[in-house]
Amino acid sequence: MKKGFLLVISGPSGVGKGTVLHDLMNTQKNLVYSVSATTRDKRDGEIEGVSYFYKSHDEFKQMIDDDQFLEYAHVHNNYYGTPKEFVENKINDGKIVVLEIDVQGAVNVKKNTDNAVFIFLAPPSLSELKNRIVGRGTETENDINLRMKNARRELEYIKYYDYLVVNDHINTAINSVNEIINAEKHKVFREEDFDIKEILDE
Ligand code: 5GP
Repeated sequence: MKKGFLLVISGPSGVGKGTVLHDLMNTQKNLVYSVSATTRDKRDGEIEGVSYFYKSHDEFKQMIDDDQFLEYAHVHNNYYGTPKEFVENKINDGKIVVLEIDVQGAVNVKKNTDNAVFIFLAPPSLSELKNRIVGRGTETENDINLRMKNARRELEYIKYYDYLVVNDHINTAINSVNEIINAEKHKVFREEDFDIKEILDE
């Protein structure tokens, strides 16, 4: 069986990670989404166990103490973390596990694993990003300002990523991410079961 890997996708809030991933999950074979735990409140339309696992601060702290996270970070005044067991099981099953996490989390994953691909999704401009967050209508004005401030900081982290995709047009961005995944699937070092003798002996 081919070895699975981690696919880390980051980018500022509102850049379109959710839309890109929704499409990918429907079209790319072998992809599974890692549902994070968070202390943030549930937004309208979100579903427990599908969007996030919603935790109190105490529950989240207990998960940290029990070493249940592959990584976790404090983002926009809340905690977010990737449950470790699910990720490890799926990688062992040969799956591509998608982590939609912030830049701090991505840097931590990079430190702790050599089997991850890092994609940064950037907005075409900060004004366009603000339009998208305001248009979503899910955040208060304070929260929008905080997310815009964080967006500037997050863009500084692009240099730690393997790939940069600018989400100017959603379909173009989706195609680019698909191409990256397809290329990564064909990396020679992932073809553990490939046996050149089968070709030579034919
Ligand atoms: P939101 O509140 O908009 O759903 O997410 C806010 C930020 O938290 C986004 O940048 C998102 O990628 C990040 N995030 C979501 N889950 C995780 C996680 O498990 N770990 C880390 N480090 N960041 C996460």
